[in-house]
Amino acid sequence: MYNETYDVTKGADKKEKVMFKIGCHLSASKGFMHMAKEILSLGGNTFQYFSRNPRGGAVKALDMNDINEFNEFKEKNGITCILCHAPYTLNPCSKDEKTRDFAYRAMKEDLERMDLIPGNMYNFHPGSHVGQGTETGIELIAEHLNNVMRKDLKTTVLLETMAGKGSEVGSRFEEISRIIEKTELGDMLGVCLDTCHVYDAGYDIVNDLDEVIREFDMIIGLKRLKAIHLNDSKNPFGSHKDRHEKIGEGSLGLDAIERIIDHPRLSELPFYLETPNELPGYKKEIALLKEMRH
Ligand code: FE
Ligand code: FE
Ligand code: ZN
Repeated sequence: MYNETYDVTKGADKKEKVMFKIGCHLSASKGFMHMAKEILSLGGNTFQYFSRNPRGGAVKALDMNDINEFNEFKEKNGITCILCHAPYTLNPCSKDEKTRDFAYRAMKEDLERMDLIPGNMYNFHPGSHVGQGTETGIELIAEHLNNVMRKDLKTTVLLETMAGKGSEVGSRFEEISRIIEKTELGDMLGVCLDTCHVYDAGYDIVNDLDEVIREFDMIIGLKRLKAIHLNDSKNPFGSHKDRHEKIGEGSLGLDAIERIIDHPRLSELPFYLETPNELPGYKKEIALLKEMRH
């Protein structure tokens, strides 16, 4: 795996080209080998997929042939670290004990399954506190992580930055940071920054990307930033809405997206598109981004 340490303070004058890790969300219904070949055909080198039905809970039996073949194929074909996304129904800070119990069982099982494809990442939404208050939400999320994290995990668990829709926890960097602090194995946690979400949450990555990155670094620490969900937004700055738009067609716009993928403190990270596209649309966006990237 790509593992060169990189002095971010010298990022700006570093001349050699950093590999562009780019991919999109893919359907997992036909297995890992199918996704791997699909992303290569779209021009990407990484991808995201749902661990199970995003709106339900059902999980498919694992196909060990597919997994073994994928682990080998991935190395040979330059597919970099992939990202598994937890289902939307996973809410570790729900008021309802049954929902919290589902979150525990689903994430524990997802992570066990991911032990079979070591070296990848697992992203989840911190959750919605549904009226219990952010403080209680943070406590419940940390408690959940204390129950599911293990020292011997082969996967990096990521908290996703949220738009702050409804009672979502994790739309402020401070909230993410407190969850990490309260988690016993917090040192093992990372963060996935969603560009649509942070902009909707009120972080101005269009007009002052440097300042947002500085704030992230001060509050969470840039070493925790492991992935970017690259999305434009259908809504204006600070709207707390969370509706993704195609690249360049929303309130972020192409110039801001270009600065994000080229920023010396972000450019080594993997970028995952979650834009409203079918496969041909993703193919076009990946080509456009590769062209834009310096
Ligand atoms: Fe997400
Ligand atoms: Fe996202
Ligand atoms: Zn979203």
